[in-house]
Amino acid sequence: MRFSRSFIPTLKEAPAEATSPSHVLLLRAGCMRKVAAGIYTFLPLGLRALAKIQRIVREEMTRAGAQEVLMPAVQPAELWQESGRWEQYGPELLRFKDRKGTEFCLGPTHEEVIVDLVRRDVRSYRQLPVCLFQIQAKFRDELRPRGGLLRGREFIMKDAYSFDADVDAAGRSYDVMFAAYERIFRRCGLEFRAVEADTGPIGGTRSHEFQVLADTGEDSIVACDACDYAANVEKAEARAEGATGAVSEASAAPPVEKVATPGKRTVEEVCAFLQVSPSALVKTLIYLADGKPIAALVRGDREVNEVKLKRAAGARDLLLGNDAAIAAATGGPVGFSGPVGLKIPIFADNEVRAMADAVVGANAADTHLRHVAFGRDFDATVVDLRQAAAGDACPRCARGRFRFFRGIEVGHVFFLGTKYSEPMKCTFLDEKGVEKPAIMGCYGIGITRIAAAAVEQNRDAAGIAWPMPIAPFHVTVLPAQMNVPRVVETAEKLHDALEASGVEVLLDDRDERAGVKFKDADLLGAPLRVTIGEKSLAKGVVELKERLAKEPELVPVEDAARVIAERVKARLG
Ligand code: ATP
Ligand code: MG
Repeated sequence: MRFSRSFIPTLKEAPAEATSPSHVLLLRAGCMRKVAAGIYTFLPLGLRALAKIQRIVREEMTRAGAQEVLMPAVQPAELWQESGRWEQYGPELLRFKDRKGTEFCLGPTHEEVIVDLVRRDVRSYRQLPVCLFQIQAKFRDELRPRGGLLRGREFIMKDAYSFDADVDAAGRSYDVMFAAYERIFRRCGLEFRAVEADTGPIGGTRSHEFQVLADTGEDSIVACDACDYAANVEKAEARAEGATGAVSEASAAPPVEKVATPGKRTVEEVCAFLQVSPSALVKTLIYLADGKPIAALVRGDREVNEVKLKRAAGARDLLLGNDAAIAAATGGPVGFSGPVGLKIPIFADNEVRAMADAVVGANAADTHLRHVAFGRDFDATVVDLRQAAAGDACPRCARGRFRFFRGIEVGHVFFLGTKYSEPMKCTFLDEKGVEKPAIMGCYGIGITRIAAAAVEQNRDAAGIAWPMPIAPFHVTVLPAQMNVPRVVETAEKLHDALEASGVEVLLDDRDERAGVKFKDADLLGAPLRVTIGEKSLAKGVVELKERLAKEPELVPVEDAARVIAERVKARLG
């Protein structure tokens, strides 16, 4: 393909609102343009990358035994009312009415539509398992669309759904999908990790996220440095350090003592004032769980994991209490809450249970209590409540320690069970003629998010460095002097030879200075660049450069097409 005839509108600078590197680079490299907040048009280069991602996904889904369908973007409210999600889903679901007043939504996901499809046509265990997938535009009215393709409102997803006759078979479907996902992300040329995840509002029991590792990722993930345990920090199990599970030796503590702590609200302030370490203080936070006050207790040097608290409290909605809520629940001001005498449900982290001589708030202004012991002075439901921290002992192998990584979630696999098949009556008759709900799994991949994640992970200050398998072009052929016929002819010949051997080439035949072309080649990010210059040509060589390499390699002109084609093939996997 010739640059001079392509629609590749590059930009010197991206709009100020683009802050994440992939957002900036995909705009600057002429891969996409914004239409509205979180809504984009894909230009030829961007679309080429997306098409390659889709092809890999399609091949692996098919290999895993899933069949492709295409469901509509517009979905009737009726189906969502059946599943109960019309009320539950919240404002991310874009709802509207047609001219007759019938309610619809733009699909943010397709469980309802697929369940409706399968329940109509599957009646017997003989028809199971069924696994269907689609690649389709989703709409989620995200509160804060950001990062361009990282979190759009309209985005392309691959979603697959499995239906099985029993839990074991459904577990196998999950495993097959899990393996397919590993192949997909490997084939896309991404560095990633599969991590245990919270199941969130879609529900179910087993769930893994596939996270592309990138410093700019919004997700925090922990991984053991000794075994293969890895989890989203939302879900990561935290071991109780020190006294594991042992109830505090309450009798050893002196009686509770009230101490004045004027104006000392934060853990740091109280600890400095009372000369105790943060690990000897119990942090008490008041939350509203579905509107009702609850207290969460963690050691002073720990953070509450709200996902764990939400789960422990069985709450659908969790909000940190404001001043008024704290005063109503404890009788004291913010910064002085504590569990002693508290009349609301209290959830304490495992570590708190072992605290025999702690400092807590006294539920009164400018006052704390010391020598407080769990079990003697207050009681609580004990659960794993704290945020995992770097250096924590691994809860699985106990040998390793946690390390933190930043990640971008590009895929998610859920074991759904009967969450949708039961309310929506997606049933079949088993071998004995008994009616049973199908056991489901659902599996999503963010196609557009993969493109952005690939750029976040593979780039430098000058531009994108696409992984070969999803690069819009494999090679840029760059004639440095357009006014030297030999240079131009060699470039054209190389372009033709490469295309003939199946390599995708962008020939930068624009009448521009070499410097401009180099800049654009770096920005566009083809994995290989071959420069044909007057001087090197006189020595019978061209300059071949890997996108992120510092120096080019010199390759004899007559070998160039073969060397490049071999290198491209080797990296396509
Ligand atoms: P997130 O936590 O990032 O909002 P999610 O848990 O809501 O993601 P799923 O419902 O599991 O996402 O959707 C499946 C996949 O779709 C995700 O793994 C992600 O790759 C992609 N995805 C989800 N929301 C968006 C979005 N707003 N923009 C682009 N891709 C998205
Ligand atoms: Mg989401």
